[in-house]
Amino acid sequence: MTQQYELSELIRSDNFIDGKWVASAGGKRFDVTNPATGEVIAQIADSDAADARAATDAAARAFPGWRDTLPRDRAAVLHRWHALMVANADALGRLISLEQGKPLAEGRGEVMYGASYVAWFADEATRIYGDIIPQQQRGKRMSAIKEPVGIVAAITPWNFPLAMIARKIAPALAAGCTVVGKPAEDTPLTALALVMLAHEAGVPAGVLNLISASRENAGPAVGDWLADSRVRKITFTGSTPVGKYLARESAGTLKKLSLELGGNAPFIVFDDADLDAAVTGMLAAKFRNGGQTCVCPNRVYVQSGVYERFADLLATRVAALKVAPATDPAAQIGPMINARAIDKIARHVDDAVSRGVRVLTGGKRLPELGPNYYAPTVLADASPDMQLSCEETFGPVVPLFRFDHEAEAIHAANDTPFGLASYFYSQDVRRIDRVARQLEAGIVGINEGALASEAAPFGGVKESGYGREGSKYGLDDYLSIKYLCQGGLE
Ligand code: NAP
Repeated sequence: MTQQYELSELIRSDNFIDGKWVASAGGKRFDVTNPATGEVIAQIADSDAADARAATDAAARAFPGWRDTLPRDRAAVLHRWHALMVANADALGRLISLEQGKPLAEGRGEVMYGASYVAWFADEATRIYGDIIPQQQRGKRMSAIKEPVGIVAAITPWNFPLAMIARKIAPALAAGCTVVGKPAEDTPLTALALVMLAHEAGVPAGVLNLISASRENAGPAVGDWLADSRVRKITFTGSTPVGKYLARESAGTLKKLSLELGGNAPFIVFDDADLDAAVTGMLAAKFRNGGQTCVCPNRVYVQSGVYERFADLLATRVAALKVAPATDPAAQIGPMINARAIDKIARHVDDAVSRGVRVLTGGKRLPELGPNYYAPTVLADASPDMQLSCEETFGPVVPLFRFDHEAEAIHAANDTPFGLASYFYSQDVRRIDRVARQLEAGIVGINEGALASEAAPFGGVKESGYGREGSKYGLDDYLSIKYLCQGGLE
């Protein structure tokens, strides 16, 4: 029978190093707060370089043993971890909502989404094949085998506190790597709970180590991993500036890197689109997690013939969205994560208003609910000079841009340094083929707003980073290829 925990039993406040819960070396702590109320949920370990080093030491000791386990034994551990996540989906979902703010249904959905990667990579662990290379010379046999890269450092953001770290730890463990990790300052509790369940599932001491740190200490703590030649890979999800910093600072020890970075997703609605489907797709893609998602449409290009009709349909549906704390079962949009986030949203909307957008709905904070709430917003007549056209808003704001010709929409969609997700709606098969090929993005949604799946390769191009998470490609980032050449066989 798989153990089920109460929410309070899942809250951990120490680091997890070498199979034990330990306070930070400096004894410091920082507050984790509920973004809906500002209340302190827990005071947890504030780690620095000494804690990062202790985690690496443990991971280095554990690596040879874990690397040499049979793949099916690693798979069995991951399957037990998956079962524990599913059995505790309600409590984990509530923990996500508590520290991150998303509605309860979304918190639970995130647990199942993150767990799906664990099950997927459990199976993939048993399918790490190599190649026998066709013979080139008599007496020589050449082959390629795959080996775990070594110690992996995983650094994750606050917007999906469970899924983002699960989809890094699962492939790393499946490949035979050991892991050191640091979740975001705002949402470390879910990651710590996940590690607790991994330990219970049988992940051996030292194989998975997690430290928490305040924003102030994140640099020194992670910096120790960047400089340590024993850490062979950094897997990071977060903003593009921090991704670039990690790439620069880890160059001294030439680590393998996976960088899942920021997006600025275009969403194009052509005159020939099914408008109801486009509005439904927009709601799914944009308003999940209150718009705090890297694949959220940030710029919406609508062709002139359907512009006003699409704007009306969308504004009506958006105005009906229920904004409330996660504890309200009817909530569809919760609070934003923190004051910095809500200030950025307000700055983008104020800038757009000062440059002439029409506010069709929303466009304001909701102080009656609390300091971190913003009304779901639709803005018409947006233009490329506005801040929300060039930067991720990361909130519930839809700016509508008008276009006349297909080439104009594609040029505008690609006119960004980013290339994570993109979306378009059209019912013309030739246009679908043309546009899908021309969009510069790692992910293209065609008449579809919900793209996430553990079976699909998730990742970006351009300054949205490199590497892929999920799918049959997802393990490659955690493996290196060794070429074996055996002579004297005649
Ligand atoms: P962030 O500021 O880049 O932070 C991400 C992680 O890096 C956090 O753990 C953060 O710690 C840590 N960090 C920040 N500065 C650091 C430094 N100097 N040295 C070492 N670690 C550092 O990003 P965020 O605001 O949490 O997340 C939002 C961004 O993530 C958006 O741009 C979004 O598009 C992107 N994202 C991308 C994907 C994807 O798959 N491509 C998925 C989700 C989110 P602290 O929390 O302590 O600052």
